[in-house]
Amino acid sequence: ALVERAKARRLEALSQLAGSVAHDMNNVLQAAGGGIRLAIRRLERDPATARHLLDAALEALDRGASVTRRLLSLAGRGVLFPEPLNVAALLADLRGALSSSAGGVLDLRVAASDDLPPILADRTQLEAALNALAANAREAMPDGGALTLGASTETVCKGIPHRARLKPGTYIRLKVIDNGTGMSAETLAQAPEPFFTTKDVGKATGLGLATSRSFAEQSGGGLAIESEPGRGTTVTLWLPQAGEEDAGEEDPGQSSPPASP
Ligand code: ADP
Repeated sequence: ALVERAKARRLEALSQLAGSVAHDMNNVLQAAGGGIRLAIRRLERDPATARHLLDAALEALDRGASVTRRLLSLAGRGVLFPEPLNVAALLADLRGALSSSAGGVLDLRVAASDDLPPILADRTQLEAALNALAANAREAMPDGGALTLGASTETVCKGIPHRARLKPGTYIRLKVIDNGTGMSAETLAQAPEPFFTTKDVGKATGLGLATSRSFAEQSGGGLAIESEPGRGTTVTLWLPQAGEEDAGEEDPGQSSPPASP
């Protein structure tokens, strides 16, 4: 009966998602189409406005593309544009966004080692993953709490199995740590499944952890969750260090030693 109920919830979440994607896409196409049509009419009379309209249409199309990219990445068919990303800057941006939206409710901390090498990952997708993990952490602390963002390097050695099944190499390990409700063993086991949610289905998609994990794996990294009811949750995201493959060019034979958060 439990499995049946979970299935029914997932189906409900899936149809919610399909509905909201169709709705978003419709808005995007109407906005872009309408803007382009108006722009064509004004092209000669009022080129400045036409340009403005075209810019807005492009923005709408970019939004649409990001919706489809999210879905594709969930299906393991994402189109990623990996680039070297500065970790300190990423965390500072996230911290800024969180502190402006959560006010004084959260005790926000950043625990990052200095001089971290850049990550090789798709910026939009990584930002979306970190935002989703931070949103989960916040929702797990409705009465406030501490949210810690951690970053360090970890070197995975040959012959030693890794809990996120990483291949040997050097990774940047990003952690989102909360001291909120935590998860029961049962929830923890299902949490990364697509469409699994314990939240109000009208608001939650049950895709945050699933898309984050699938993004991390497609990027050559991984994701792991630790959680204890009443104590909190730590989600760890491993992503490859930029320049690993051609380390010989910039940094001959060197790789950062493993560091603890
Ligand atoms: P959603 O947030 O839309 O439910 P997710 O895939 O992000 O989807 O999370 C799935 C479920 O995992 C959540 O509904 C919640 O039960 C649990 N969960 C995720 N992150 C946390 C967290 N930081 N603390 C407690 N529970 C969590």
